[in-house]
Amino acid sequence: MRLSRFFLPVLKETPADAQIVSHRLMLRAGMIRQEAAGVYSWLPLGFRVLKKIEQIVREEQDRAGAIELLMPTLQPADLWRESGRYDGYGKEMLRIVDRHERDLLYGPTNEEMITAIFRSYCRSYKDLPKILYHIQWKFRDEIRPRFGVMRGREFLMKDSYSFDLDEASARRAYNRMFVAYLNTFDRLGLKAVPMRADTGPIGGDLSHEFIILAETGESEVFCDSALVDMGAPGLDVDFEGDLQPLVDARTSLYAATEEMHEADRFASEVPEERRLSARGIEVGHIFYFGTKYSEPLGANVTHPDGKDRPVHMGSYGVGVSRLLGAIIEAHHDEAGCIWPESVAPFGVGIINLKPGDADTDAACQSAYDALVKAGKDPLLDDTNERPGGKFATMDLIGVPWQLIIGPRGLKEGKVEIKRRATGERFEASLESALSQLT
Ligand code: ATP
Ligand code: MG
Ligand code: MG
Ligand code: MG
Repeated sequence: MRLSRFFLPVLKETPADAQIVSHRLMLRAGMIRQEAAGVYSWLPLGFRVLKKIEQIVREEQDRAGAIELLMPTLQPADLWRESGRYDGYGKEMLRIVDRHERDLLYGPTNEEMITAIFRSYCRSYKDLPKILYHIQWKFRDEIRPRFGVMRGREFLMKDSYSFDLDEASARRAYNRMFVAYLNTFDRLGLKAVPMRADTGPIGGDLSHEFIILAETGESEVFCDSALVDMGAPGLDVDFEGDLQPLVDARTSLYAATEEMHEADRFASEVPEERRLSARGIEVGHIFYFGTKYSEPLGANVTHPDGKDRPVHMGSYGVGVSRLLGAIIEAHHDEAGCIWPESVAPFGVGIINLKPGDADTDAACQSAYDALVKAGKDPLLDDTNERPGGKFATMDLIGVPWQLIIGPRGLKEGKVEIKRRATGERFEASLESALSQLT
């Protein structure tokens, strides 16, 4: 992409109403635009990152054996009357009436609809187990939408739903998602800590929130710091094998959100130097809820003994759009975003210090062509902005590598490479710079 042809509405001033750094940077870097409270347009730069995050989430769901489909954003109210949640959900649900006076709603989540899909087609233990998921926009009429995409009203969620014969099998599905989430967040450059979460009236120990530690997080959390230092299981995990040891290694260490926190257990189980109390951002939430929806909705399966019983279910959410904010909260400095390479909107930024200078233009063009060919998705700043402005923009949008090319350096056969994350700069010939970047 050439910056002169791109659409990058960078703001010079810091937006006054944005309270946290990720929101400020997303507005300043021209990634999002607010259209209504908690409702955003995704401008090209933000959209690129959103798509990359979505794709990583998708790949790890697929690797764990989940199957993608797509349900609509609109749902009939009757489905929610069947589960008994229509009245109880309250004001967070956006209710809509169509021209035929039929009640619809903009889905805040999809347990009812996926259960209805399942019950139409799956009747036998032979159809199990199954994990189905989609990545779709949700709407929750949050009382206080804030912090940009962190707490929007319209937001992108990945939600998976598991279907199993019994609790033991459902636990295996739960473990798949548990491990897939650790790998997903790791690929996104995040350290997500699984924390025991409230299971509500169903009880049991099968609910975890995945939390990114950040000062601006909305939840108060308490955990053993060993959990933060533990690496992800890795992409070579055998999802058909026994995942319980990987899960146990983490769930045996203390980690709880405010609602689940037990101060005396925390003090007795965690050595003092490892007691971490911090704030965190909920980026994922997994839940086993048994037959809570399959019973009222009549999603039964015939067991090998010939008897019909309600299917055991779980649901597993990831806040895809919230993740942009969370990643920026974890990776930024005063100058702007510092994207992990896996989600960066562009792989390399080429800065042409003197457009119009024939040698510089030619060197930039050949660098651009080589980087495109290598699949590095370069952004070439070919505008007439001053060099200082170009450096600032490239830093602000957080491209991981910068290739700086100008007439003075070229005379000595040199260009400059800058690594955004560390600020390190070094000189090299164009040829060797390109071989390092490709
Ligand atoms: P929160 O506690 O932040 O309100 P939640 O517990 O209500 O979230 P879940 O129902 O568990 O959310 O939904 C799954 C995931 O969707 C959450 O873990 C979060 O990452 C994301 N999410 C929920 N609400 C929002 C929102 N308003 N804006 C952006 N992402 C959201
Ligand atoms: Mg909520
Ligand atoms: Mg929550
Ligand atoms: Mg939650």
